[in-house]
Amino acid sequence: MRIRTVRQELAIKYPWKIARSEGVTSATTIRLSIEHEGVIGYGEAAPSVYYYGEDLDRVEQVAKDAEPVLGQDPFLLEDIIDELAEQFPEAPAARAALDAGLHDLVGKLLDVPVYKLWGLNPANTPKTSYTLGIDTIPMMLKKLNEAREYPVLKIKVGVPGDMEMIKAIRENTDATIRVDANTGWRVEEAIEKIHELAAYDIEFVEQPIASGDYEGLRKVRENVPLPIMADEDSITCAELPRLAGCVDAINIKLAKSGGLREAMRMINVARALGMKIMIGCMSESSLGVTAAAHLTPLTDYADLDMNLLLTNDPFDGIKVIDGKIILPERPGHGAILR
Ligand code: MG
Repeated sequence: MRIRTVRQELAIKYPWKIARSEGVTSATTIRLSIEHEGVIGYGEAAPSVYYYGEDLDRVEQVAKDAEPVLGQDPFLLEDIIDELAEQFPEAPAARAALDAGLHDLVGKLLDVPVYKLWGLNPANTPKTSYTLGIDTIPMMLKKLNEAREYPVLKIKVGVPGDMEMIKAIRENTDATIRVDANTGWRVEEAIEKIHELAAYDIEFVEQPIASGDYEGLRKVRENVPLPIMADEDSITCAELPRLAGCVDAINIKLAKSGGLREAMRMINVARALGMKIMIGCMSESSLGVTAAAHLTPLTDYADLDMNLLLTNDPFDGIKVIDGKIILPERPGHGAILR
C-alpha cells in the first residue's frame, strides 16, 4: 500500500475562539491517501499540539514511516492499527488519518459503506450541535440568526462575559443549548457558574475545569444540577475507568483516540461504565467529519459541525437536515473530493 499526503488550507467563516486559545480564521489539516491495487482510501489528520505536541510536520513524518507497517493486506485492520499505535503512540491524528483511510479502502474494496461493515443502522444517527464561537453579543446574535436551521447549539464559555452571552442567546432561541468551557474554570468557579447556567435550560457542560484533575471533576459533578462531559480528559480507553463517577459523559474525537477502532472500543467501555457518549471533531473538513459520523448510530450526541463552519470545504460527505446527520450511502466512508 502507498501513502501520500497533501496539506489542506481550510478557511473558517468566523474567527474561532475558545477558552484555551485565541480566535483563528483558518486551519491546516493533512489529507492522507492510501492506494492499494488502484483503489484509494482517504483520511484526514487534524493534529493538535495540545495533545502530545503533535503538529503537521509530525503527521507527514509518521505517514512516511507508516508505509512498511501497512503491508499488502488492508483487511488486517486490527493487526495494522495495533502496530501503528505501538510504533507511533504520540501521533493520534496521524493514526486517525491512516485508520480512516484503511476503513475507506476496505469499504470500497467490498463496495459497502463503513456503517454497513459494522452492522449499524444509518437511521439512528443523532442530531449534531452547531457551534457559535465566542464573540461579542451582537455578533453572537447574528450567528444565532444564521443558525436557525439547527435545533441543537453549542456555546463556548469559560471566558469573561460568558453568562451574559448565554443569557442573550437563551432569550432569543428555544433551541437545545449545550456549553463547553474548554478547561476555562477553577473547581469552585465551575460550581458557581454551572448553578447560574441551570437557569438557562442547558443540556450539559463540557470540560469545566483543567484536564488531569479527576477529583476536581467529581467534586463539580456532585455539586451541580447539570450533567458533566469530559473532552480534554477523555482521550483513549485508558482514561475511562478513572473518569467513572467523575463525569456523566465523554466526548470522543478521532484525532485524540487515534482513529475509528479505538473510538469504537471507547464507546463499548463508556457504555459498560454507564456513561453517555458524544462524537466530536477538530478543525477539519468533511473528510474527517464524515469518517467520524459513521460511529454516530452508536452515540447519544454528536458535535460534528466544523465542516459547516468552513467556506472552502474540499470534500463532500455527510449532510445535515434539521440537525440530523445523514450518512452518505457511497462505499467506504463516502467522503469524496469535490
Ligand atoms: Mg470540547
